[in-house]
Amino acid sequence: MDLDGNPIVFRFWNSEYKGHPPYYFCTNAPGYREYLTQQAKEALAGQPDMLLIDGIHTTANALHQGGCFCSHCMTAFKGYVAENIPQQKLNALQIGDLNGFDYGRFLRDRGFTSTQFGREVLAWPSKLPLADEYLTFQQVAARGFLEEFHRAVDEMSATPIEFSTSTPLHHAKDWYPASVIDHFTIETILHPEKRQIPEDQIFRYKLADGLGKRILVTGMGNNDWTYVRDQNLKGMVRIWIAQSYAYGHNFLVPNNVWSGEDEARYESRPGNFDDLYQFVRRHADLFNGYEPVA
Ligand SMILES: [Zn+2]
Repeated sequence: MDLDGNPIVFRFWNSEYKGHPPYYFCTNAPGYREYLTQQAKEALAGQPDMLLIDGIHTTANALHQGGCFCSHCMTAFKGYVAENIPQQKLNALQIGDLNGFDYGRFLRDRGFTSTQFGREVLAWPSKLPLADEYLTFQQVAARGFLEEFHRAVDEMSATPIEFSTSTPLHHAKDWYPASVIDHFTIETILHPEKRQIPEDQIFRYKLADGLGKRILVTGMGNNDWTYVRDQNLKGMVRIWIAQSYAYGHNFLVPNNVWSGEDEARYESRPGNFDDLYQFVRRHADLFNGYEPVA
């Protein structure tokens, strides 16, 4: 729900159902949490080795589209404000009594619209009152959801299961779920057009080491995979795979990879990469229990 009270459209999916476009769900809504837990239950019935919950920055990611201002977010943010924001700051914003506080109404009363909120909320420093606090709240709330979800998965699963979430890990704020997941699964921009070993990626591997997390990597579907597919850069993909294992992390086997909206996927051929993965398996003792020296 955006600041103007309209549902937020998830533009990534270009589809419709009974005249409705796909909408953003809110991970702070109990009904949606229940639905996700049911999905996990169904997935666990197949006895998977790992469980991934995709794109958990969803509600925080709706900020640039003017959301989320649903009643669940408003109630939870009121609690966050009461616990984390000094009275002096609230007085300066003319928020005396928190009992009836509703952040959406507070902004609308000051003339802010959804479009304006979406444009300004992520600016640094933001001119919107309580914008930084709201952004932090949404990330803390998403982490809280993951923690609760992980616990529910552990209770439903017969044996402990590796649990991860996906995030691009482009910015420091993207690492907020680190304490409540076992590893990260990331789609990251590997810039094959530079025809170089990706340097940014080393930073992500070392940052993950610092947090004591392994990351499972793939490139971005609609630029990296499209590019290596169209330019036939098998060697570049081999570098990506070798680099990830050399730094103690993992690379998703590039088989039938989504490569943007043109429907043609990235397909590997026998002989392209199997020797690399066989090497890792054959010499597992060199990789398991990896500990970075620096
Ligand atoms: Zn919400």
